[in-house]
Amino acid sequence: MSARLPVHIDPIRFADTCRSIEGSMPLLGMDRLANSLSSADSSVEIALDFGLGERGFRIMDLSIRGSLQLVCQRCLGTVDWPLTINSVVALVRTEAQIERLPDHYEPLLVEPQPMQLMAIVEDEILLALPVVAFHPEEQCQLAHAIDNRPLPKEEEPRQFAALAQLKDQLKKR
Ligand SMILES: [Zn+2]
Repeated sequence: MSARLPVHIDPIRFADTCRSIEGSMPLLGMDRLANSLSSADSSVEIALDFGLGERGFRIMDLSIRGSLQLVCQRCLGTVDWPLTINSVVALVRTEAQIERLPDHYEPLLVEPQPMQLMAIVEDEILLALPVVAFHPEEQCQLAHAIDNRPLPKEEEPRQFAALAQLKDQLKKR
């Protein structure tokens, strides 16, 4: 793993010089993502390779890996959600360029000033999030509670039987 990640990047210059950056990025500080997280106390591993792609577009080959802790919308507990993002992002400067992109390129409108790396990564994670997060049924507290509601039918007769037995004993006295 490389040294610290830069706070700001100049994507166009990075592409022209074929730079690569990789490292561990904490989720803490990603304010837009925070709403969907049950805990931001983890990091994602990122790897970005800049260079030239099809049709002369400058590209950023991006990989993000990690595990997010989302909020289950059924029981409000924590869902561990594995995150794997692999995408090729074309660095464009105008909206018009977006129309000429090959289909498998995702556009990133590059600003003239250096861009915040964390915001770029956060955008990618937000795009990859599920619309609603749920535990699998067998792990969800609430689904579990519904499936195993009290009143197990077997126990009722047994309780009544015990009561009847007690009554019998009282009568015999
Ligand atoms: Zn749940």
